[in-house]
Amino acid sequence: MLQNIRVVLVNTSHPGNIGGAARAMKNMGLSRLVLVQPQDFPAHDASARASGADDVLAAAQVVETLEDALVGCNLVLGTSARDRRIPWPLVDPRECGSKVIEHARQGEEIALVFGREHAGLTNEELQRCHFHVHIPSNPDFSSLNLAAAVQVLAYEVRMAWLAASDEPSKVEKFEATSLRSSELATTDEMELFYEHLEKTMVQIGFLDPEKPKHLMARLRRLYGRSAVNRSEMSILRGILTETQKAARGEPHKRKDQ
Ligand code: SAH
Repeated sequence: MLQNIRVVLVNTSHPGNIGGAARAMKNMGLSRLVLVQPQDFPAHDASARASGADDVLAAAQVVETLEDALVGCNLVLGTSARDRRIPWPLVDPRECGSKVIEHARQGEEIALVFGREHAGLTNEELQRCHFHVHIPSNPDFSSLNLAAAVQVLAYEVRMAWLAASDEPSKVEKFEATSLRSSELATTDEMELFYEHLEKTMVQIGFLDPEKPKHLMARLRRLYGRSAVNRSEMSILRGILTETQKAARGEPHKRKDQ
């Protein structure tokens, strides 16, 4: 789906920005870069700023006109740092992300167009776009660095893509791999733990079965509040087992002691 999305940079003057854009794209899973009349490309600065996204640079297509860059595109979104005279359908980066993914998943071709560092896109170029995208920046200082603008849009596209493909976007991804251990301990596991805890406390002389003083109720309240998960439960059970061994004068689990 992400291969259907091309990033078009128009008449870029600093090769470093081309490299920065390539890196931003690769970080977010985009790979198709099209350069319309770049002023200095290929260049050392571009590769330096790409730091590892050289493959995106190497595959970049260099063309003469915006029209050439947009061949085969079904949907074109042009970015602009400021309001233009002619009102145009305007979306914010988040709406842009979902629009792009909505169309990409139908197999359509999409272009995100970025303008010159000093002058942005011309009105004529903007009029070739179905939508305009404005990053809602500080109105007194609205113009982002070109590569930073590419980063913002590429990120929104990625978030929309993750949501559409049900890919986990957060730490959940990591947790999903150890899903069982991050699940809350079940009530029966908690009951076994309380039994173990009570026995251990009696064994070490902390709990007097003749005068329990609501100790178990208090501890149930404490652990109940903690939402103990399975891996935490096994730590707690491990501590109790080792405490019991120590109370019986048996050797420690750790061999270095
Ligand atoms: N002086 C230019 C600024 C160009 S910044 C102008 O007023 O248009 C270079 C490019 O970065 C812009 O053409 C656009 O593609 C992108 N960009 C920078 N800030 C942006 C913003 N706030 N919203 C959308 N795109 C932005």
